[in-house]
Amino acid sequence: MTTTRRASVQGVVELHGVRKVHGTGDHAVTALDGISVGFSRGTFTAIMGPSGSGKSTLLQCAAGLERPTDGQIVLAGVDIGKQNEKQRTELRRKHIGFVFQAFNLVESLTAAQNVELPSRFAGRKVEPEQVASALASVGLTERANHRPSRLSGGQQQCVALARALVTRPDVLFADEPTGALDTVTSREVLRMMRMLVDREGQTTLMVTHDPVAASAADVVVFIKDGRIADRIPLDRDPRSNNAAVIAAHMARLEA
Ligand code: ADP
Ligand code: MG
Repeated sequence: MTTTRRASVQGVVELHGVRKVHGTGDHAVTALDGISVGFSRGTFTAIMGPSGSGKSTLLQCAAGLERPTDGQIVLAGVDIGKQNEKQRTELRRKHIGFVFQAFNLVESLTAAQNVELPSRFAGRKVEPEQVASALASVGLTERANHRPSRLSGGQQQCVALARALVTRPDVLFADEPTGALDTVTSREVLRMMRMLVDREGQTTLMVTHDPVAASAADVVVFIKDGRIADRIPLDRDPRSNNAAVIAAHMARLEA
């Protein structure tokens, strides 16, 4: 089942001929239909496409949370298909961070405790300085001892970002991170994600259906019916109207 690694696909995350079929028999759904794409270190990529086009499946497979049916995924230089369950769990803990539309914070814990929690579960000690540094990187130093209910939705998502980044992962994966936020708080989270890329070179892959959110990225990859439909690099000049360009692409894809 090994697919030849193509030299043209390079990056800290590489997908080589990835197929993913959900279910079997009459219920089989091909979510990814032969995807080859690489994501370079230090870049921010937005993944867009119509509903059901395979965006979440792409992210889950790329992050090693789901196994592809066929093809090869290389994460931080490691072919994850060749690893056993235990090795993959370890690889995920060390190399990836994930944020979702739902912040999934524990209400009875402070922001700092929420950031620390997953590592504690994983039996790994996180130093208080690491927690402080993760919170500082998302601008929440002053809120470290606040419980989620005392924070805005945007700040809560930033706590989730800090939690994902406390282990300094090679890649941050975000599936619709602003999906539950209003325009103003969305902007706050996107500004933070952009800053993490600019200041810390945080490789970021973000699924979104919002052209404004996608315009925070360096490049937009469009997928349709489980295949790469298009890839457009964005001009980071603040005067360029990337959101309009992206919206026009989306409209064409959905037509
Ligand atoms: P998107 O995130 O772009 O909306 P998904 O990756 O969630 O798309 O889904 C792609 C396709 O795979 C859809 O047709 C969806 O219904 C199907 N699918 C996703 N997850 C599962 C699953 N666990 N079981 C069966 N089908 C699934
Ligand atoms: Mg999805």
